Formats: sequence, structure tokens, C-alpha cells
Amino acid sequence: MLYLDNSATTQVLPEVKEAILPFLLEDFGNPSSKYYPLATNAKTAVETARQNVSRLVGCDEDEVVFTSGATESNNFILKGVAHSFKENGNHIVTSKVEHPSVLETCKYLESIGFKITYLDVDACGRVSTEQIQDIILNMKPILISIMWGNNELGSLNPISDIAAICKEHGVFFHTDATQVIGKVPIDLSEIEGINFVSFSAHKFHGPKGVGVSVLRKDDLGLPIQITPLLHGGGQERDIRSGTLPVHNIVGMGKAAELATKNLKQNIEQLQKLEQELTAILSSKFEDKIKFNNDTKDKIPGILSVQFKGINNETLVRNLAPVAAVSTGSACSSSKPSHVLQNIGLSLEEVRSTIRFSLSPTISLDELEIFKSL
Ligand code: PMP
Repeated sequence: MLYLDNSATTQVLPEVKEAILPFLLEDFGNPSSKYYPLATNAKTAVETARQNVSRLVGCDEDEVVFTSGATESNNFILKGVAHSFKENGNHIVTSKVEHPSVLETCKYLESIGFKITYLDVDACGRVSTEQIQDIILNMKPILISIMWGNNELGSLNPISDIAAICKEHGVFFHTDATQVIGKVPIDLSEIEGINFVSFSAHKFHGPKGVGVSVLRKDDLGLPIQITPLLHGGGQERDIRSGTLPVHNIVGMGKAAELATKNLKQNIEQLQKLEQELTAILSSKFEDKIKFNNDTKDKIPGILSVQFKGINNETLVRNLAPVAAVSTGSACSSSKPSHVLQNIGLSLEEVRSTIRFSLSPTISLDELEIFKSL
């Protein structure tokens, strides 16, 4: 069975598994304990992982806060900024095609008095810099949260440009980078104006249940203080409490190290695979299919394809013995995709769309199975 649902989650790489095991079985100490080697080894491993994660995205080590994943990171940053900066205003801006962990958090914030603007997107799921400029001038928001790349369409937003506008106007900018890590070069040290970033390890061949909030320092090199989501024992410099899941953090660190080292070749492989799969599907199904995704400015390896007149649930089920694909986001798979509806697709078109999401671990030959379907 060929696994083509890598935007839902990825397989842990063998090196990642090997890195994790000693921290379950041998060095199982609590990194917050002191002096004895089981604890200090765990602490050292956590700090090595922090270094690897910071290198992957080009930030400082003390800007990395470990969380349980992107859902928590999105909740933490949106609620944390809202709570800490409510004296500055109550308006937050996001887009209509964000992940539910952003959209539902925004709905919650609305329920307690914040005003949220959900920006429209274009036919590929992007927001424009003009929209950002206009909303800042008209509404003076405290925070803008726009995803780096979309999980269903792969479209990339003009993140550096949005960040520059936010910086110019003194508006906090958060981006959910969950889908782009390891698939798009990211160097936060080169982009001014991104204050907060979220992502999860399991989208780049690390373990599930661990992720990161990057909280960038301000121009004076000081941390932006936001209210914690989890209060407690004071781990992660009092910003995110809870005993650190050392094995998961070490796994994420190893996955980050590999993603950094192999970034160029992984991107090339994803591009080749995408081209090949596009060519196979186009020649086999001709005008019976339609691609929803753009061909440029996108995350390599994500394809969103309508199979005209065929129900996507049926298609996913029928393909299951040979290939794992999905109807879209695994997080809202029971409802018709809000992303596809917001780019203007009819319900019928949404219900005939499936997403293929590739991994650099796949070989070109493996895609041949689609020729014989
Ligand atoms: N944001 C995006 C864009 C995602 O694709 C996902 C995972 N589907 C998340 C956030 C949430 O990640 P997690 O489930 O690991 O918390």
C-alpha cells in the first residue's frame, strides 16, 4: 500500500526511532530534576533538540518553546496574544482557509468579546498583501494570523511581504507553518516581522504529540511576554508548563536535523514526484479530472484533484487497498472542506476532490501503480 497522505501525518524515520528509544528505556529521567545523570542526560538531549529545531527554521534557541503540537501552539499564541494585549485593541485578523485549530480558537475569542475578521482568499487559497494593508489601515488589529502554506491546496502565502507590512504598522504577526516545515526553505533570521510561528513534528517525519511555538524576540532582543496556555511547574521558562516529553522532543530534534540536512534533495524529490503524479493522472484521466491546486508558489508534493462525478469518500475507500489518500484535512474529514468551499468550488466539486500528499521517501517507480488502476 502506497502512503500518499503525508499532509495528515508522516512515518517516523528509522533514525528518529533510534534516537527516541534510549530516552524511553535508559535515560528516562525528568530533565527538570537535578544532578544525577539520568536527569542531566535528558536535559542535554532536550537542549540539543532545541538547537536542531532552531537551526531548521533559523531562529534563536531561546525562541523555541516545546508544546504538544501545532494545535496547542496555535491556541497558545492566539489566546496568549489576545489576553496579554487586550488593552491595545480587540481586533484579530485571520483567513477563511486556516486550520480548525486557528479558526475555532478565533471563534472562541469572538465568544468572549474579540472581533475577528476572516479574510477571503483567491482561487488558490491565498490572501493578498493589499488585503493585509487595507485591514491594518482600517481596523488597527492587534494580531494577524495567516498560514504559511495551505494543508489542502499547498498554496503558499506571501509571508515575507505580509510580515513586512505588519512590522511597518506595529501589528503582531503569527503564521501556522505546520505544512511547510521540511518542504520549503525557512530562515526566520532573514524575515523581519514574523513574531510567532507554530508547527508539529509529525508532519516532517518526527513523532506525534510534540511541536513548537516559536516566540521571536523583539527588536531590542527581549521576549514578547504572552499569557501561558498551561500554567504549572514552570518548565520552558514558565511559558509552557508540564513535564517535557523527552523522547518526543529528541525525536523531533532528530527529524529537524535530517530535514535541515536533506532539505534541498527532499524538495527536488517532492517536485519530481509531483510532476510524475500529475503527468500520470492527466494522461490516464484526461478531462475527467481537474486540479484545484496552483502549479507555482506552492508546497511541493500536495495535489488537490477533482474526479468529476465521483464521490470522494467512495474513491478514497476503493483506493484504500492500494493507496492511502484523503478527501482533504484529516482534522475535519467528516465535513465538506471549508478550504475548497472558500476558493469557490461547488459542493459537488468539493465532494469529488481528493488530496494526494507525497513524501521524499517515495520513489518515482512506486507511482506507477496509478497507471494500472
Ligand atoms: N495547522 C495545520 C496547517 C495542519 O495541517 C495541522 C495538522 N493537520 C495542524 C495545524 C494541527 O497539527 P496537530 O494536529 O499536530 O496539532
